[in-house]
Amino acid sequence: MPLKEFLPDDTVKTCCKLESGLNLAVDGLRACTRGALMPPLFCNVEELSRGMITRDFIVGKRKEYIRMLNDDASDMDCKRCLMVEQKRYGDILFSGLGHIDLQHYSICNLRCTYCTYTREDLHLSEQYDALSVLKQFSQDDVQWNSHVDFAGGEPTLLENLEAYLDFFRTRRIRVLMHTNAVKFHQAIYDGISDGSIYWVITSVDAGTPSTFKALRGQDKYLRVIENLSRYAAAGSKGKGMLAVKYIFCDSNCGDDDITGFAYAMLALRPQQVWLTFDFTPLSSGRSGHDYSGQIEAYAKLYLLLKKHGIEAFHYYKEAIASVSKEGKDIMDQIMKAIERLGCDIPLDIPDLFFVDFRNNNISAGFDTDKFSVRPFKITHKGGQSERWSLAGKRILLAPACALTQNLLSDPEIQNAAWIGFVDRNPIQHGKTIEGRTIYGYETIGSLDIDAILVASPEKHRRDILDVVYKNSPDSVQIAEMVD
Ligand code: SF4
Ligand code: SF4
Repeated sequence: MPLKEFLPDDTVKTCCKLESGLNLAVDGLRACTRGALMPPLFCNVEELSRGMITRDFIVGKRKEYIRMLNDDASDMDCKRCLMVEQKRYGDILFSGLGHIDLQHYSICNLRCTYCTYTREDLHLSEQYDALSVLKQFSQDDVQWNSHVDFAGGEPTLLENLEAYLDFFRTRRIRVLMHTNAVKFHQAIYDGISDGSIYWVITSVDAGTPSTFKALRGQDKYLRVIENLSRYAAAGSKGKGMLAVKYIFCDSNCGDDDITGFAYAMLALRPQQVWLTFDFTPLSSGRSGHDYSGQIEAYAKLYLLLKKHGIEAFHYYKEAIASVSKEGKDIMDQIMKAIERLGCDIPLDIPDLFFVDFRNNNISAGFDTDKFSVRPFKITHKGGQSERWSLAGKRILLAPACALTQNLLSDPEIQNAAWIGFVDRNPIQHGKTIEGRTIYGYETIGSLDIDAILVASPEKHRRDILDVVYKNSPDSVQIAEMVD
């Protein structure tokens, strides 16, 4: 039976990745990759290699798959995805360039045991010209929040890495570069330094050379730590950032690794540390896998870092736990383990906080005014709460993200005399969200602002508050959104 066509006023199930995402994978092109879930291919490698894939073709596939998502008889992984939302069909723009996953090759200089490419012994060079697919989209198609997960394989092994970076810089698409850091690349260092690479993300997954070698197939631990020191130094210039990840597997949960990794991070001072799990048992449908050892190790590492002033980010919560029920249950168990073990560990002794030698700050909590919406209220640091009127005020929303974009529809915020956005990433500066300009933090002082409203994703909260306070005149009121 043919799939139903929709009218502009119909309410349909959809998702932002189906509307504007592109996953350029080794087996073809699809809307996204979410680990445990996999939407159907738009086209395979042969079709891509023939160079026949146009923007119109991709738009047609997006329309077809959104119709499938709304069709009771069709089967697709998207139907089990927690990202699905309801929207007016006429409001969907099928031609945008939003989230890009660049993974059209799998060559790598490591052999991680948790990696699908290692398990399948699949080490493929570039399977097609991904740049020509991306070039189908014009600058006007690039959404304000467009970003690329530049993964693979190992990007530093691409001969044309600079051509990709140049494309993303000129199209003003934020780059999240996933490299194993075995090979230092000057273009990556330069990209972090000037902010054209927003994040460099490296999994280390070990605190000892022996575990690194056993888990990742090469004796490169010390070289990786050295290269990460350089990227962390580039990140300390305030534009791009380095995140170091620990993926808990069955073989890296011992105390030696947890301790070694924690102290390596205190020495390196990446801009962030992210904790997560090996998703393989979930994505391969092996429910019932025993995660208890990993959950315990996760909680220990999180608390050890916290004791010394590093607040690690729960990457897992944003990844698998946002799309899968089993992932969410595991995240709940992690939070309970942290609470249980945390009862016995003092986390607030200033002498145990290691000073960040790169910016000379002690990581500390921020005590700000808080605001909530509908009704719009402010709670001052002392605890006193009252209605808050923004009428006639000039306000900035920080950072430029979905949370602050949503605030634009709040009636009290619409009362403000002037609204702008402020964001750290130079790639975003000068872009507009619903007609409101995105500025850099360094311009706050010249914008004659009355208040800055901060509504940030959890992993950026500290950095954003830090930079907002540093750049704001004393007269500016700063308030952070609470749920
Ligand atoms: S798997 Fe989820 S996020 Fe991906 S396209 Fe389908 S609904 Fe969207
Ligand atoms: S570094 Fe990445 S691509 Fe390379 S083997 Fe490990 S997980 Fe796979």
